[in-house]
Amino acid sequence: MTRGKFTVAGGGPVGSLLAILLGRHGYEVGLYEGRPDSRVTSIYQGKSINIALSDRGWTSLEQIGVGSDAKAEAIPMYHRAIHGVDGELSRLPYGKQGDAIWSVSRGGINEQLLDIADAEANITTHFEHWLVDVDFETAGTVFQVKRDQEITVEADYLFGADGAHSKVRRLAHNVS
Ligand SMILES: Cc1cc2nc3c(=O)[nH]c(=O)nc-3n(C[C@H](O)[C@H](O)[C@H](O)COP(=O)(O)OP(=O)(O)OC[C@H]3O[C@@H](n4cnc5c(N)ncnc54)[C@H](O)[C@@H]3O)c2cc1C
Repeated sequence: MTRGKFTVAGGGPVGSLLAILLGRHGYEVGLYEGRPDSRVTSIYQGKSINIALSDRGWTSLEQIGVGSDAKAEAIPMYHRAIHGVDGELSRLPYGKQGDAIWSVSRGGINEQLLDIADAEANITTHFEHWLVDVDFETAGTVFQVKRDQEITVEADYLFGADGAHSKVRRLAHNVS
């Protein structure tokens, strides 16, 4: 018996982490990612860049129990290096003495989160499902699955975790 049904649109770092937290709180979660599963298809083509995680990111990862494992692979960055036109190098610390932001593989952390999501009983993951429409009255969503195939998904709640150019946000504001 679950507490309610969530659709999470977007399986990036935010969507996959959110799905895990919701699933562990007893909700039924459908996690829908538009792109192919990077764990089976090399969508990064060797170009995945690192992202820098601050305390906010680590606090979230620690909540699902992967903070220390992920930190073991991370590279601390203590300051921004500024190269002056005169050739002088100065350093702008990211925090107090010893504070750092931590560089991690964006693809690596995302795939680790997807593995954890897949292992959760309440979560189903779906790839190559592009959100194309939302009924904001019912939280129902429409996903394009193949070039000419669409499926409708019913849920109690929808989270748009579909990135900076969020389709969910654009639909909410009537922007195509
Ligand atoms: C060059 C660059 C460097 C950055 N460096 C940092 C950094 O160092 N530290 C940092 O914290 N942030 C950094 N950012 C921001 C970073 O991208 C975000 O912090 C992080 O990726 C946010 O994760 P997200 O899951 O919200 O979004 P995203 O990583 O963008 O994931 C959104 C997911 O939703 C999917 N999606 C999109 N539309 C749909 C749709 N219609 N249907 C289904 N799925 C959809 C996408 O395929 C994607 O997988 C950087 C961004 C860029 C561009």
